[in-house]
Amino acid sequence: MRVLSCGITDIGLKRERNEDSFLINEELDLYVLCDGMGGHAGGEYASAIAVNVVEEVMASIEVHGDVDPEDDPVELTRRRIDYAVRLASERIHETAQREPELQSMGTTVVVLHVRDGNAYIAHVGDSRLYRLREGHFEQLTDDHSFVGRGIREGLLTEEEARNHPLRNVITRSLGSQPTVEVDIQVRAIRRGDRYLLCSDGLSGFVEDGDIERVLAEQRPRAAARELVGMACDRGGEDNITIIVAVVEDE
Ligand code: CA
Repeated sequence: MRVLSCGITDIGLKRERNEDSFLINEELDLYVLCDGMGGHAGGEYASAIAVNVVEEVMASIEVHGDVDPEDDPVELTRRRIDYAVRLASERIHETAQREPELQSMGTTVVVLHVRDGNAYIAHVGDSRLYRLREGHFEQLTDDHSFVGRGIREGLLTEEEARNHPLRNVITRSLGSQPTVEVDIQVRAIRRGDRYLLCSDGLSGFVEDGDIERVLAEQRPRAAARELVGMACDRGGEDNITIIVAVVEDE
């Protein structure tokens, strides 16, 4: 099955820097999106380290970590992604310890890796992955954020979360602690699946129903462009990054 993709990042209308980073490696069917934070150049630095380290580990042929070659290939891939994201976090944390100006830096991450009929989805923080399958649109990642927890516990609605004063507070990120727990899911892919990865510069301003409609109607490039335009129309207060990946029907 072939995956057709497009990624786009936009500074938005209010920020002086773009702290988001993304990566598309078609050969590996690897898609990574990070939303950095931290003073000075910390945010953009942290997000760039994360996408680079994840790609480096996923592209290498070395065996990492505690692996038994007899293990199931799905488990091996899952562990490799887990290792890649944890290594990215360590590298950011170490760099932050060395450079006082970058001390508070960190980043979210969301990874999609398509391999042997499976989608491997890893994430930390509030960057999201949505899937549109046969008319059913779903956010597959749980936001690791204060308001995300509120929604899961039934204390906040999506609308209240969008306007909450603590909407930007994330509860898990790469680099802020020496170690990090990574959420990883393995799900079978189907022809026609449409995946969308985004930073909160999109999901914090454009409602899920609008994201769903654009994803259903447009090809990847046109969808990404239209959604960036919608986020800017609604204020463009944050950096906006989007990756669309479609499992081709043919
Ligand atoms: Ca952001």
